[in-house]
Amino acid sequence: MTDPLRQAACSVVATLTDAGFTAFFAGGCVRDRLMGNHVKDYDIATNATPQQVAAAFSKVRMVGAHFGVALVHYHGFDFEVATFREDGSYGDGRRPDSVCYSTPEKDAHRRDFTINGLFENPATGEVIDFIGGQQDLDARTLRAIGDAETRFAEDYLRMLRAVRFAARFDLKIEESTWVALQAHAPQITQISVERIFAEVRTILTHPNRVRGFDLLVESGLMQHILPEIIQLQGCDQPPEFHPEGDVYQHTRIMLDMIPADASEALVWAVLLHDIAKPATRTVDETGRIRFNGHDRVGAEMAEEILRRLKAPNHLIDAVRPMVARHMTFMNVTKMKRSTLRRFMDAPTFTDEIELHRVDCASSNGITENYEFVLAKRDEFANEPVVPPPLVTGRDLIERGHKPGPNLGKILNEIQTLQLDGQLTTRDDALAWLDANG
Ligand code: ATP
Ligand code: MG
Repeated sequence: MTDPLRQAACSVVATLTDAGFTAFFAGGCVRDRLMGNHVKDYDIATNATPQQVAAAFSKVRMVGAHFGVALVHYHGFDFEVATFREDGSYGDGRRPDSVCYSTPEKDAHRRDFTINGLFENPATGEVIDFIGGQQDLDARTLRAIGDAETRFAEDYLRMLRAVRFAARFDLKIEESTWVALQAHAPQITQISVERIFAEVRTILTHPNRVRGFDLLVESGLMQHILPEIIQLQGCDQPPEFHPEGDVYQHTRIMLDMIPADASEALVWAVLLHDIAKPATRTVDETGRIRFNGHDRVGAEMAEEILRRLKAPNHLIDAVRPMVARHMTFMNVTKMKRSTLRRFMDAPTFTDEIELHRVDCASSNGITENYEFVLAKRDEFANEPVVPPPLVTGRDLIERGHKPGPNLGKILNEIQTLQLDGQLTTRDDALAWLDANG
């Protein structure tokens, strides 16, 4: 046993058992070990009260003493040590009204899914299973503990947790759990948007994101979280450019094509890049389907949607321009050098290349613009795409220009000539200024 985290966790349990208490590893860490996955943190369950836990260790914070949780800092790691408990009634579908200390068996039964309800005695390696969790793990099944209907009604967040765990571990969802999930899906809106977004982003940034996406849609949760995605279903497109099908299918295939470790911005940009197609769809006089302005309108919608979900600003600031610019890739081979360099200078450009690649790969299969941009990136690899300016506003003022918007216009003109390769040195630029300024 060389894992220092596990070693420390075992010592915390041993300290409690030496003091006469019962203590086990609980929940996710037991599940993860049995599945052969990396364990990132150990939760400990015990019959000691938070006060008794506090007395047994030197560094303890009472993070949730009223829920029976103490945070033990031990050998450089933090462990949540929770007293075995059962939850009181759930008045609002979000949080139990009260908790009371209880037995390991009752504590297992308050947990959400059988795979999350296991205990482990680290001293013996024995798994303590009151809820049939091991069997479900072996069968790769996600099953609510007890009556699924009741369990989702107690806490609607469990619906998103079900999707998250099923996608992350590629589990099938047991029938009555699935039926109950679908029945309660509309009630997800009673959960705070912050908690919804935290779950959704975890689902979508995971490598198995397409399964998560499908489960969100099939459960009915998507309709209440991102109804705009459901609107993409049946939004047909010209078959010669989109042999893969409607906008929904196109988006889903792209989600499947991005790398497993895609950035969160790329994931959202893929999801939202064509979000305005239903709203902008027209048929022209030749009978061709068009989506004029779907990039511009889509960028606005993407921002609106992400704001509604209370996404962080840095994410919105990345996704919005990615959506706005996704059609610009069609013109890269025809761009002036200066226009291309400015286009490529965006902080999101690496993700945008990938967005463009999968946009084509999932539909028309055109690779020309993608390859062109990659070649240009190599060409510009040893210099800044947009190099520092040759002259500044001060140079212009020294030459008698008045401060104001006109200065910016001239500087921009000089930068364009610089990016196009017509001005290369400061002296060139000053000479141009004397002749034209
Ligand atoms: P992860 O690896 O995602 O952290 P986890 O199983 O540790 O997975 P947590 O959210 O950290 O999940 O919760 C720890 C344990 O607490 C779960 O394994 C489960 O037993 C219980 N739990 C957490 N949230 C709920 C909930 N909403 N309803 C019932 N039990 C829950
Ligand atoms: Mg956890």
